[in-house]
Amino acid sequence: MSETANARAAALPHLRDRGFATGDPIPLPLTMAAIYHTPGDAAGFDQYGRFSNPTWDAVEHMLAHLEGAPCVAFPSGMAATCSVFFALLKAGDRILLPSDGYHTTRALADRFLKPFGVTYDMRPTSTFLDGGFEGYRLAFVETPANPGLDICDIAAVAKAAQMAGALLAVDNTTMTPFGQRPLDHGADIVVAADTKAPNGHSDVLFGHVASRNADIIAALTGWREISGSIPGPFEAWLVHRGLETLDVRFDRMCSSAEVIARRLKGHPAISGLRFPGLESDPSHNLARAQMERFGFLISFELASEDKAEDFINNCDLMQAATSFGGVHSSAERRSKRGDAVAAGFVRLSVGCEPVEELWKAIEASLDKISG
Ligand SMILES: *Cc1c(COP(=O)(O)O)cnc(C)c1O
Repeated sequence: MSETANARAAALPHLRDRGFATGDPIPLPLTMAAIYHTPGDAAGFDQYGRFSNPTWDAVEHMLAHLEGAPCVAFPSGMAATCSVFFALLKAGDRILLPSDGYHTTRALADRFLKPFGVTYDMRPTSTFLDGGFEGYRLAFVETPANPGLDICDIAAVAKAAQMAGALLAVDNTTMTPFGQRPLDHGADIVVAADTKAPNGHSDVLFGHVASRNADIIAALTGWREISGSIPGPFEAWLVHRGLETLDVRFDRMCSSAEVIARRLKGHPAISGLRFPGLESDPSHNLARAQMERFGFLISFELASEDKAEDFINNCDLMQAATSFGGVHSSAERRSKRGDAVAAGFVRLSVGCEPVEELWKAIEASLDKISG
């Protein structure tokens, strides 16, 4: 990681230190409260649990430190994406989505934006720039896209979008702020599912939006307050704890993914291997330019649905599960979730297990389906 990313990682566990009085608990206290003591004029104080909570404030402070921008926390990644669409768009707007990104974002646009008069078009991530952004209010990208791991040039898209008067939002879930900071490349908005690597223990759903535009932050905060799309304090507390070890986990996961992707490359059972860290990957040069690390997701195809299921289910160190970014390695056959991929397409999320042990388990399971 770059020096600045290391400096951010080092400061992260000490963000609370400044306000300490003697005797204060060093770990974050959990505040479970729907109401607060507010006699007289309550302006400037926490008033009600739908408006604010000290545990959210602490996790937002951490996320803001990592993103280099104010953040608004939400109860899930999709709640974060919803806030961007519903707080910033109006009837008559057109938006542009990735055709190969997280499938639920497309479902949201189709089932709930369209009836409100917001229309959408789609483009593949790898050619997202082609065609320009004239006539769009918002362009939404995901890079690397989940699950195919194609990449687009955030700085180039941001520049073209802004020239056409469109906002650029980037779903940064696959990278986390340690892997990539889209706002530094000119994006207006970052959305992310902290459900994944930031929490890291697969026991919480959470999300956030970051922006350096004060009007956008005000709109999202207002949306949260009025829609009631608020994170639970306990979930916020768990994400705060998770973020304290994100740097260590992310580093292990990305380093292991590089080792495993290189070894998978030579395996006869595998085709269509994608990992941005491989020199042969179509995303590699762009990944080098805009990402701090190459991430922990690998995708590939096995010969059939059965072989993919067998590979996942027979691997001793692999959870058969959707989602990604947890401490345990996990894998999923994505056609199960409606992604437009081959039946034998597998998305593998490399976890925190020691890499040589993990590779042995992966290799043994691959050898079994090859034999
Ligand atoms: C998981 C995911 C989401 C949604 O997050 P939830 O917390 O499940 O709502 C959004 N975008 C991407 C890229 C994801 O992988």
